Amino acid sequence: MEVKVVREILEANEVIAKQNKELFSQKGVYVLNLMGAPGTGKTTLLEKTIEMVKDRWPLAVIEGDIATSRDAERVARYGVQVVQINTGGACHLDGNMVREGLKALNLDGIRLLLVENVGNLVCPAEFNIGEDDKVMVLSVTEGDDKPLKYPLMFQVSSLLILNKVDLLPYVDFDLERFRDFTRKVNPRLEVIEVSCKTGQGLQRWIEWLQGRLEGRR
Ligand code: MG
Ligand code: ZN
Repeated sequence: MEVKVVREILEANEVIAKQNKELFSQKGVYVLNLMGAPGTGKTTLLEKTIEMVKDRWPLAVIEGDIATSRDAERVARYGVQVVQINTGGACHLDGNMVREGLKALNLDGIRLLLVENVGNLVCPAEFNIGEDDKVMVLSVTEGDDKPLKYPLMFQVSSLLILNKVDLLPYVDFDLERFRDFTRKVNPRLEVIEVSCKTGQGLQRWIEWLQGRLEGRR
């Protein structure tokens, strides 16, 4: 019974996600759904990204959190349109929440919509929001066994950003083992090693993003 209920929720979400996707496509907006655990550096990566691309592509941001508008306030400092969605307890964004959030944004002329999902390695992977790509952020402090423990998020993502690689000398994170585990759950998943602290890998990430934006149509 419970399984059936979950399936119906996911199917209802799929309908709204498709409507969102149509709207994005009409407006010519490329949409990125950024997922990852709390503290992995999603907002910091967003800040670095905004700094690097906001003059190139008009962009807007949707921030998803259970509570507070702290992340939206951080992003607003860069002078871009941002809306904070508070899920009030729900541990992921869904199509409907994003649709509601869009009411606060003007997408005319916007080329890139960055959506930061709620910090969680589990159900954000199950709920499409109408995005073009899901990108996962994992930091080396979280451990190299995560692909095996949370396979779905690794399977649905187009790209994995391995963040905080500047900390590799101080943590027991085996890069080779991690690459092995990642290949096991998703052989096609591209991994970019990044440090938002030192700037390592950020240029490669922006090039990846550019490729997706330009390859879209
Ligand atoms: Mg955040
Ligand atoms: Zn959830």
